[in-house]
Amino acid sequence: MSENNPVEGLQEVREAIRRAASDYERAPSEITLVAVSKTFPAEAIEPVLAAGQRVFGENYVQEAKAKWPDLRSRFPDVELHMIGPLQSNKAKEAVELFDVIHTLDRSSLAEALAKEIAKQGRAPRLLVQVNTGEEPQKGGVAPGEVDAFLEACRTKYGLTIEGLMCIPPAEDPPSPHFALLNTIAKKHGLKVLSMGMSADFDEAIQLGATHVRVGSAIFGARSKKD
Ligand SMILES: *Cc1c(COP(=O)(O)O)cnc(C)c1O
Repeated sequence: MSENNPVEGLQEVREAIRRAASDYERAPSEITLVAVSKTFPAEAIEPVLAAGQRVFGENYVQEAKAKWPDLRSRFPDVELHMIGPLQSNKAKEAVELFDVIHTLDRSSLAEALAKEIAKQGRAPRLLVQVNTGEEPQKGGVAPGEVDAFLEACRTKYGLTIEGLMCIPPAEDPPSPHFALLNTIAKKHGLKVLSMGMSADFDEAIQLGATHVRVGSAIFGARSKKD
């Protein structure tokens, strides 16, 4: 492990993604690395930007708002992804700040995002989070409710959904969850699959991930638990 050297971590993760793509006969260009920089300060992120990484994930609107406008003014081609739970009352800031939102999971949020998108004329790409393990404490639409939710997003709120995201239960082997997400996405013709983190992005790539969200394998262990 590359302790406290995010640039080495980045290079190792990129190499591991290339290997997985080759092992599972996927084109490396189909797989986007989302570098998850939550809890890390701008000083830790800068070298990773300088090393060429442009796609980043954050979990908290306030934290992202504090860190990214300045980094972005220096690296204007950054693409910022919201991967944490999103409150409807943060929809305005989320639409202002993020290019992709991975965690759309309920009607009230769809409604709030649709309103802000219309108002701001800025439309982040949207993924629906699926609670594949049906964990009560976790965000996401239950697998059995995805069909109805996608339909409501489209017809009731006029939102285009590009794909699906999941976070498997910590205690489960992740592969069945990744396979389930892939099956649901295929059924709906959705192209984007956000799945796989530091511990399991290899399995996720095997099962069709287009976006892997990798934090600690790049930036090191987080002091805060999340
Ligand atoms: C924190 C987080 C990650 C990154 O997790 P690591 O194990 O540090 O790679 C990925 N996805 C989500 C939704 C997260 O909250």
